[in-house]
Parts: sequence; structure tokens; C-alpha cells
Amino acid sequence: MNLRGKPKCPFCNRPLTYVYEGAKGITGEKCKKCGQEYLVDTETLEVIRILNQAS
Ligand SMILES: [Zn+2]
Repeated sequence: MNLRGKPKCPFCNRPLTYVYEGAKGITGEKCKKCGQEYLVDTETLEVIRILNQAS
């Protein structure tokens, strides 16, 4: 499989996951460094922050 990209955490710039060719859909990833959670769109390599809805 060919690596398509490594979407990075917008805060600490650490790669969240590796995305390979043929990947589809959205995956949830948690940054192991800063603990922030994200959704990664494996088709566009877009990183979407999950906002914590603290009540
Ligand atoms: Zn991070």
C-alpha cells in the first residue's frame, strides 16, 4: 500500500495517523502528545477538531 499522507495535529504538529491509498471515510484520532481528539477525513486528509462540549 502506498502512503498518501500523514495528517498532523494542528496544535503540536505531531502526525495523528497514516493514511494509505484506498482509505475511505472519516476516522477518529486522538493526539498522543496533547490529547486533543480529531476527526480525520481519509479522502481529503482534512483534520477536524472535535470540540469538547463540557456542560
Ligand atoms: Zn497534538
